[in-house]
Amino acid sequence: MKKALISLLALLTVLCLGAYLFRGPIALALMDRVVAARMSTSLLDQLPDGLNVLLCGAGSPLPDPKRSGPCTAIIAGDHLFLVDSGTNSSRILSQLQVPQGEIDGVLITHFHSDHIDGLGEMLLNAWVGGSRTQPVPLYGPVGVGKIVQGLNQIYSQDKVYRTAHHGEDIVPSSGAGAVARPFPEPAPGKASVIFDDDGLKITAFSVDHQPVEPAVGYRFDYKGRSVVVSGDTKKSKNLEEFAQGTDLLVHEALSRTLVGAMTAGAEKAGRHKTAKITRDIIDYHASPVEAAQSANAVGADHLLFYHIVPPLLLAPLEAVFVEGVSDAYPGPFTVGRDGTLVSLPAGSDEITVEQLL
Ligand SMILES: [Zn+2]
Ligand SMILES: [Zn+2]
Repeated sequence: MKKALISLLALLTVLCLGAYLFRGPIALALMDRVVAARMSTSLLDQLPDGLNVLLCGAGSPLPDPKRSGPCTAIIAGDHLFLVDSGTNSSRILSQLQVPQGEIDGVLITHFHSDHIDGLGEMLLNAWVGGSRTQPVPLYGPVGVGKIVQGLNQIYSQDKVYRTAHHGEDIVPSSGAGAVARPFPEPAPGKASVIFDDDGLKITAFSVDHQPVEPAVGYRFDYKGRSVVVSGDTKKSKNLEEFAQGTDLLVHEALSRTLVGAMTAGAEKAGRHKTAKITRDIIDYHASPVEAAQSANAVGADHLLFYHIVPPLLLAPLEAVFVEGVSDAYPGPFTVGRDGTLVSLPAGSDEITVEQLL
């Protein structure tokens, strides 16, 4: 019995050692299968019909390993829209197996850099990775044309190289870059329908991110389900008007307690200019409790926090971030991270939350 055990252990040791020594060739032998499996899978095929909200960036300009620059993907039927595209959002979409070539459009909330600085990479992946024949439409308040012009200019040489190298069939030059779809910022109390097709209606309304103007949020209605994405705003009466009765409110939030602690740290380090900036940013964002008050005012069934400021680098900080939220809003809420998926299947009241990354 003892001998058999020793032989078994010896055999296991040899096998483990072999696997370790040949780990490179083993990984290489499996690689084509893994690549094939990933390339033939799309997250979009696995989602229920209805509204699906996927955070491709739950953060802000401040680096947080769990939260890239702001990006919210809305999948409704055959349609795929992004709200903003911040740093790293294109890579998050790739990791989540969302084919960027199928993006119907990007809806820009405002022109702060953190909401647009992932666009270059996203447009490239949509074009070269997706063999698009049409540029990606960029919807946004008037002024979005300048962003499109600038992006197309920055990548004008890249456009030449890619098609020259891979050929028109693979990388059609007509699909490079973006095309602007501007709309006038709606006055408070008014909304603009900017897309209405296949049962999906997208409405823009203004929010309050002074001195940043224009600044809008978006409402999505599809098959009886609805989602509102706040964009950057302090607590906004206008948002509350247009988010009435929404199933899901996706709202930005900045914790004044935590940003106050950052300011104190910056002062201690003698970084007075940084402290001035962290003090300034408080006045044009909503606190988590204010976002919760808006969720309560509109009767939302679920509140999803995104554009989370500051980074929640330690788990206990999340508890500080949501302090007081349950008192202001009785419904369920989620502190978003990259890869948070909220599904609202058509023909039901159901809301499911999954973490995909
Ligand atoms: Zn922002
Ligand atoms: Zn902003």
